[in-house]
Amino acid sequence: MPASLGYAALSPKAPLGPFRFERREPGPHDVQIEIHYCGVCHSDLHQVNEEWGTATFPMVPGHEIVGRVVKVGAHVKGFKPGDLAGVGCMVDSCRSCPSCGEGLEQYCDKGFVGTYGSKQKDGTPTYGGYSNNIVVDEAFTLRISPKLNPAAVAPLLCAGITTWSPLRHWKVSKGQKIGIVGLGGLGHMGVKFAHSFGARVVLFTTSQAKAEDARRLGADEVVVSRNKDEMKKHARSFDFILDTVSAPHDINALLGLVKRDGAMTLLGVPPADPSLKVGNLIFARRQLGGSLIGGIRETQEMLDYCAEHGIVSDIEMIPMHKINEAYERMLKSDVKYRFVIDLATLKP
Ligand SMILES: [Zn+2]
Ligand SMILES: [Zn+2]
Repeated sequence: MPASLGYAALSPKAPLGPFRFERREPGPHDVQIEIHYCGVCHSDLHQVNEEWGTATFPMVPGHEIVGRVVKVGAHVKGFKPGDLAGVGCMVDSCRSCPSCGEGLEQYCDKGFVGTYGSKQKDGTPTYGGYSNNIVVDEAFTLRISPKLNPAAVAPLLCAGITTWSPLRHWKVSKGQKIGIVGLGGLGHMGVKFAHSFGARVVLFTTSQAKAEDARRLGADEVVVSRNKDEMKKHARSFDFILDTVSAPHDINALLGLVKRDGAMTLLGVPPADPSLKVGNLIFARRQLGGSLIGGIRETQEMLDYCAEHGIVSDIEMIPMHKINEAYERMLKSDVKYRFVIDLATLKP
């Protein structure tokens, strides 16, 4: 069994520290990856703090993983040692329900197996990418192009696909007016993708300080959502709004900016459910939706698109031992726009 070294929280809310464990022995369909980079997602912080219900500890977080294949099972077809490979939020699913059949494993009827904090089919816990290696079924392993900076590719595996999937599902395209709410790890990727698809992109933020950066990332216009007059100017004008914010905020004010027959999609789960003015839907036949990460097939499509168009995340690289400090900074939104751990700094 491959020996692993990682960083784990041993109990809820505990600071992360070095942790030794074992990965499963690679089976015939498995790929063993030496991890080089792992992005730091807000959900890592939520789960370490056990904010989403009872979690399993020790917890090795991390689901934005990029590394190099070191070993493959006898039946693996798509990977060989030396290839770059990635792993996102899922490492398995039931593979037989309608969602799995359509390549939408994130909506698996039986629940997908998370990259960390879940149970594998053999009942053993999954450990994530804040570690030096991982063993994953080929069906949940992504091909990574050598054309892109691999550290900046890592966040595409969660922040990237989480914004890509709804923009594609709601068919965002050239000439449309698209709103992106919030400029964090998700929002900055939403701006890049919507801009790349040829849409006119408006970023909604509570902080005027983010305006310049938003334009650099591809926004055509920035609206400070606290300014009611500014908001009013955009009434009934958006084809689609992608709301990436999980902090409490007024979704009714945003919904009023959507055109007749337009849609707004939520990506963040606020601590308390927002109140919805139903008339806001009825009087313009608007749709309000939600979306969760993306399937394996569309994650590969996104990665291939990014390689072709030179799209990656804006990152700040950190050594492994600075992870607790990084969590504190994330709580203050002090990151542009994703921390990525350099696993070369993880020493025994
Ligand atoms: Zn994530
Ligand atoms: Zn399934």
